[in-house]
Amino acid sequence: MHDVVVVGGGIAGLTAARDLAHRGYGVLVLEARDRLGGRTWWKRFADTDHHAEMGGTWFDEGTQLNIAREIQRYSLPTVLSPAGQAFRVSLGGRSLARSDQPVPPDVRPDLEKAIDHIVDQSRRVTFGSDLDSPDLHDLDIPFSELVAPYSDQQLVDEYLSMWAAFAFGCDPSDVSALQVLTWVAGYDNMTWTLDDAPATKFALGTASLVDALAEDGGSEIELSAPVVSIGDAGDHVEVTTAGGETHRARFALLATPVNTWEDIELPIPTDSLKARFAAEGLAGQAVKLHALVDDVPEFLMASGWGGPLCWVSEQANFDGGRLLVGIGSDDSAIDGTDPAQVQQAIRQFAPEATVRMCDSHNWSTDPYAKGTWTTYRPGQLSRYYSDFFVPHGRLYFGGSDLARGWAGFMDGAIESGAETAAALSRRLSEDS
Ligand SMILES: Cc1cc2nc3c(=O)[nH]c(=O)nc-3n(C[C@H](O)[C@H](O)[C@H](O)COP(=O)(O)OP(=O)(O)OC[C@H]3O[C@@H](n4cnc5c(N)ncnc54)[C@H](O)[C@@H]3O)c2cc1C
Repeated sequence: MHDVVVVGGGIAGLTAARDLAHRGYGVLVLEARDRLGGRTWWKRFADTDHHAEMGGTWFDEGTQLNIAREIQRYSLPTVLSPAGQAFRVSLGGRSLARSDQPVPPDVRPDLEKAIDHIVDQSRRVTFGSDLDSPDLHDLDIPFSELVAPYSDQQLVDEYLSMWAAFAFGCDPSDVSALQVLTWVAGYDNMTWTLDDAPATKFALGTASLVDALAEDGGSEIELSAPVVSIGDAGDHVEVTTAGGETHRARFALLATPVNTWEDIELPIPTDSLKARFAAEGLAGQAVKLHALVDDVPEFLMASGWGGPLCWVSEQANFDGGRLLVGIGSDDSAIDGTDPAQVQQAIRQFAPEATVRMCDSHNWSTDPYAKGTWTTYRPGQLSRYYSDFFVPHGRLYFGGSDLARGWAGFMDGAIESGAETAAALSRRLSEDS
């Protein structure tokens, strides 16, 4: 019998497994896919020798201290994404001339008022704690509602929509303003524009972190082992895979996305906070695509509203083409693997663009993700935040979706994996 079965071999599950193994516990990781890494995926781009990040990519080592620690621990090389040189912005149905600012001079004072309001409200939030405090309930509303007083001016409204859609991968009315403000608080009460969002990434891909975690500690790892049920027998758990194998362990850690919990039979009451959270689900449904493109300006950095993509930027160039990455807030609005659709979307920003090849992964229809990064719906932080960290009997919960700080980021996955491993090892030592 293992001490712990970890369900899910994403960054959170692998971090927890590593930490538990280091404390001397026997761990089995059961991963549904035939690869580790979950919502990070360093994948070969089309038939080329180049790779592209289909999921999690960028981080900020200055504010995201959990990922910074792991980078240092494994000496992982990092690199900055290329800075933009040719700026394009498309708002109000037209391309706007761009110098150093994303909106025309006459709109800037209104935009600044809206941003000042966001920053002021973010000062009420203590990053990483008490997000369900009654004092913050008035902020757990749709982001679009928070900025409604500033949205009469169409360009301001579209700019803020584009910003929130890029950061949270959904319509701005579907994300809690409190989550947005948490991020602003986490960035030392500053907002970034789409031009200067965190741009550091792993030089050898997210696979370099995933492999380092998986190889450290010696946990057993089984791939292609989707878990269908977790039973709590009182003095141990029984974890059963779709293949019919049942593994017994003293404890289980569920480290799969919240949106997948309903597909696993769990020993939790249907009226529990966790069951209700899973039934509501998280809102992130972004599209992220890569395209090798001809006839685009060098180091394009484009943002806008009104098309399927709200941000496009060059990541590399090879074979005479430019590898662009694009993000939009709705993966049902475009098939990121169809060059014709991708070309049309990129032409919103670069009218001459010709797409040679492209690739994308639809995370929303992926049965082991059912969504993109963590986006809390209005009201969810008030209702569920305290319960994120509460186990049910011998079943613990982890993952970036449940992080106290950088939920939705790789940093949050590491934070949650490490915290849950610490809580589990305390319980394991009491249980012995
Ligand atoms: C398109 C996209 C862009 C992103 N961009 C960024 C970014 O730039 N920067 C950043 O920091 N973060 C980004 N993220 C978020 C980041 O990737 C995630 O927050 C993080 O990787 C989540 O890790 P996790 O371990 O919590 O969950 P996951 O990575 O989802 O891991 C969960 C694991 O559980 C497995 N699983 C699911 N169901 C079962 C089952 N029944 N049985 C067994 N295993 C199961 C899954 O296959 C998966 O491997 C992005 C995510 C996406 C999708």
